[in-house]
Amino acid sequence: MIRFEHVTKRYADGTTAVDDLSFEVAAGELITLVGPSGCGKTTTMKMVNRLIEPTEGRIFLDGQDISTVDPVELRRRIGYVIQQVGLFPHKTVLDNTATVPHLLGVKRTEARARAAELLDLVGLDPKVYGSRYPEQLSGGQRQRVGVARALAADPPVLLMDEPFGAVDPVVREHLQNEFLKLQSQVRKTVLFVTHDIEEAVRLGDRIAVYGQGTVEQFDAPAVVLGAPATPYVADFVGADRGLKRLSVTPIEESDLDQPPVVHLDDSLRSATARLSAEGARWAVVLDSEDNLHGWIPAGATEPAGPHNGATHEGATHEGGTVREHARRMEAWLPVGASLKQAFATMLQHDAGWIAVIDERSEGRFLGVLTPARLHEALRRSIDADGRKVSRTEVEVETIG
Ligand code: ADP
Ligand code: MG
Repeated sequence: MIRFEHVTKRYADGTTAVDDLSFEVAAGELITLVGPSGCGKTTTMKMVNRLIEPTEGRIFLDGQDISTVDPVELRRRIGYVIQQVGLFPHKTVLDNTATVPHLLGVKRTEARARAAELLDLVGLDPKVYGSRYPEQLSGGQRQRVGVARALAADPPVLLMDEPFGAVDPVVREHLQNEFLKLQSQVRKTVLFVTHDIEEAVRLGDRIAVYGQGTVEQFDAPAVVLGAPATPYVADFVGADRGLKRLSVTPIEESDLDQPPVVHLDDSLRSATARLSAEGARWAVVLDSEDNLHGWIPAGATEPAGPHNGATHEGATHEGGTVREHARRMEAWLPVGASLKQAFATMLQHDAGWIAVIDERSEGRFLGVLTPARLHEALRRSIDADGRKVSRTEVEVETIG
């Protein structure tokens, strides 16, 4: 979708901002460009929409050399979001968002209807915020309007230059999560500039780590964190990169163990037999749709002790069903949640394992994650992501 070929930018004063840069980005990828201030990120970005012309080299968009494309036409295909959003102060939020389609000749009512949809998409209720003016919004809300406006002409490419840099850390994390959700729906090809490594690993499908005008490493987050290409990258990602890797490695189905499973309406007698046959101390309890209900310890079938006394008397013996003895499961996560969330959940509930469910199918139980399997998943993530990167590169070949 976007290809840099030996691109160099030297400014008039002799500063080499970008030095012989070559990389490729596939359609629908979210790439973060990360590096310290002055390393050439903004220059890279502005060459894509021709706010800056390269000194040497060529840039291709969808196979087309952009130096041959009229800049105005080019910018219609590229949304642009910057830190100081630059909303028109005298226009309402709705009209700000509708600006570009309106300029492109879309009828006013149509442009506004589309703008309302986009505001909704970025988490601003158009009925509440549409008629406000920019000064009546918080910083985070203004950035949301900026994102909505950049999406208004439905461009395939989005350039974002430190879009969340000016908001406080809590709002920033919120905006990041919202943006990831948004991106999963709209699937734009995104170049996202940041100087914050946390933001880069959280958002990027791949990360370009900048040195001085050059890219030192261009890989999936888990690879950059797990196998930094140079000492500079290792230093930049920080000594706690092992911990950071937990947050960029998702739980996959193949990471899970399969414990004994019983159903709510099973008789206690058969559940007990199951557990003792497998020598297990507990079983997961599912409902008739195989959704997670809870768990049951092997001891649940013992005669009532002082703690689970009078109320269960009668039911505690062979006659009852699993339903009466199932316990609530606190420690569970959807598949795809990060290993960091898994680890945090284990610590929070002091649990030796957590249940993993499929949220898309209303909570179907998939298996359990144990600390040993968590460790294996973390080690495997580097290889797996390495493979993902090469697949992406193959795709790019065929697109270009
Ligand atoms: P970043 O966005 O990573 O902070 P920039 O791309 O803005 O970096 O800048 C890269 C380098 O180019 C810096 O040394 C900066 O001072 C220099 N630079 C940026 N714009 C200009 C310009 N118009 N003229 C001269 N030097 C510039
Ligand atoms: Mg910059």
